[in-house]
Amino acid sequence: MKPGDCSDVEKLLFDRVQEGNVSEVKRLLGEPKVRVDCIDESGMTMLQHAAFKGRLDLVELLLSQGADVNSNYHDNQYSTLTFGALSGNADVVKALLIAGADTKTKNSVGRTAAQMAGFTGQHHVVATINNYFPIDYLEPYIKIQGLDKEPRLPPHLAPLLHKMMLFTNLHPVHISRYLKQTPVLLDEAYKIAKVLDLLCEKSMKAADTNDVMAIKSHYLACVIRQCDKARTERGDTNLDTWIKSLIRCREGDMCNEYMEKFIRSTMRDFPYTQSELLQTMVRNLAAVPVGGNPTGFSILMSAVNGQQYAPTEDTACDTCGEPHAEKKCSACKYVHYCNAECQKLQWFTHKKFCKHLGEVQKKYTKQEEERMEREKREQEIAKSKQIKNIQMAEKDPENIKDSNEVTPEADSKTDNPSEVIES
Ligand SMILES: [Zn+2]
Ligand SMILES: [Zn+2]
Repeated sequence: MKPGDCSDVEKLLFDRVQEGNVSEVKRLLGEPKVRVDCIDESGMTMLQHAAFKGRLDLVELLLSQGADVNSNYHDNQYSTLTFGALSGNADVVKALLIAGADTKTKNSVGRTAAQMAGFTGQHHVVATINNYFPIDYLEPYIKIQGLDKEPRLPPHLAPLLHKMMLFTNLHPVHISRYLKQTPVLLDEAYKIAKVLDLLCEKSMKAADTNDVMAIKSHYLACVIRQCDKARTERGDTNLDTWIKSLIRCREGDMCNEYMEKFIRSTMRDFPYTQSELLQTMVRNLAAVPVGGNPTGFSILMSAVNGQQYAPTEDTACDTCGEPHAEKKCSACKYVHYCNAECQKLQWFTHKKFCKHLGEVQKKYTKQEEERMEREKREQEIAKSKQIKNIQMAEKDPENIKDSNEVTPEADSKTDNPSEVIES
């Protein structure tokens, strides 16, 4: 294929993709002899443009029309996944991955899509790529093997398990709620946990070991076993008691003690102690008592999603760990939540701390306001100094100074009176 060798309709299509005009793109793609994978002068396909713009609707449309997700004609060999990663839209990235985008493709300077996303600070995208694995990996488990009478994984559960394995949020409440909403998975908890164990083993025993995948599979197996135990042994049919115990804050320091101990126990139980990633996690944890920072959850998240992922915790939901939770408790304005449901779930324990947190928040807000007020005053003073400086320079043209500059002499009242600026 020659770059820029496009018909008039195809050229028009590139324009419409740039404009984000979905209905026109759809109409033009239906015209005769239009090639969905034609390339422009820089070797880019329409799909690559749509991905770079972070347009999920266009990406899905073009993929449904058979666009090649691994087209590789770009001048600098940027893959479609790299363009998607640079857009910062994790949903676009996920759509490309599901369509079979190769995560290992490198550009002309030897960088993969995940590395490019890391360079540009798109940590959510990096996590999405690093956590991805194709559903085909589950293929061996949905087929009857050897002397088995049935597949290890009931085939209809494969997409549901696959969805859980792509989670970047590993908060046990987030996973437990997914399981609560997907009782078919819990009904086969034993089989699901076993398949996760096998995936863990496979990841550690492969020539190219994948510690992240192994630790994640093991952790998910631990959560599902705990949920199953709560249901079958403790009669906690809708997992409410289990979820509440994870959320409950300890008196005094508000530590989620039960959750912390649970996450620590999953790491202790990881069967492949030779894993360097595990050893790092354990070392980091050993240095911190339960209730200290970093928590087991943040160590787990950093290990699986990359070191850079942790900062989003500031605005993560206090109940389920979802990043960028936009709602706040209206009473204390301190803790973040995804929505009213997450807030309601935590209220039984948050109510004991809400008032105190409100006071902390108020104090902080007051300090912030004072700081801003101070900065504003300082800016006004600097501005009036500049104005005086200009006025003086106008009176005495030989003394022209850059209006943005306040020289040390001017501040320290030197012996040259024309340089002194009164505040
Ligand atoms: Zn939440
Ligand atoms: Zn509150």
